[in-house]
Amino acid sequence: MATIDRLPPLREVIAAHDLVARRQLGQNFLLDLNLTARIARAAGDLSGCDVLEVGPGPGGLTRGLLAEGARHVLAVEKDSRCLPALAEIAAAYPGRLEVVHGDALEVDSAARLKAPVRVVANLPYNVGTELLVRWLTPAQWPPFWESLTLMFQKEVAERIVARPGTRAYGRLALLAQWRADPKIVLTLPPEAFTPAPKVHSAVVHLTRLDSPRFPADPAVLQRVTATAFNQRRKMLRASLRGLAPDIEDRLRAVGIDPTARAEEIPLEGFCALARELA
Ligand code: SAM
Repeated sequence: MATIDRLPPLREVIAAHDLVARRQLGQNFLLDLNLTARIARAAGDLSGCDVLEVGPGPGGLTRGLLAEGARHVLAVEKDSRCLPALAEIAAAYPGRLEVVHGDALEVDSAARLKAPVRVVANLPYNVGTELLVRWLTPAQWPPFWESLTLMFQKEVAERIVARPGTRAYGRLALLAQWRADPKIVLTLPPEAFTPAPKVHSAVVHLTRLDSPRFPADPAVLQRVTATAFNQRRKMLRASLRGLAPDIEDRLRAVGIDPTARAEEIPLEGFCALARELA
């Protein structure tokens, strides 16, 4: 196993601090430092960047981020058992690692970071999608981050990058692709983790766009896509009837066939419809 710093191998760290993985905290650890270094590199050039890491656990990815030159890493961890292991990493990289003990859904991380910021995380599966949606829907755009490099279950990663006409295409794809450019950069088998989860995983790298790909009011776009995909098998003239009494005319006005279904409509079409209905 590669040594990227003078710290002990992760298996020793886990044994020394008795970090038995807890399923309710989504704990599937990455112990291969080659792999954590690859994920850190997938985030782009970290030198001169502050990095937000959610759920550092025993610190494998944290070590990758620091070894790859991150200026400052803010690591938010809910499990207090991990804090002594993280303190050892902080001591090995003086002044560059700040550990916050708390729930990432409650900590105001953005206020603690200086631009440019990259977010890199092997997310706990139970909070991953919620954090992604929050990072993609801030009150102000552009957001506090330049890029997000995040581990998801492969099935969720596929929904983020999905194209129209596929079963994976839906609200998550539209949200992610409206204001960012998402790509799957790495897929991992269950055995890459300790303990191994039941499913494959994938790392998605999202680069933010300075302004949305097509103009639309965020709240209206959100309402249109939620309504359309809540009944994704219905024709749009039926699923969207509640949004406007003359929805068939409105759909035709923006070049959408009222008998089409939500999963056939590209992002541009949803944005045009949101403008028409605004
Ligand atoms: N980053 C480590 C790695 O790659 O080996 C651990 C990844 S593990 C999938 C998820 C980590 O997130 C665990 O350390 C868990 O304790 C932590 N966690 C779970 N829920 C959290 C929350 N709401 N806020 C912050 N950390 C959380």
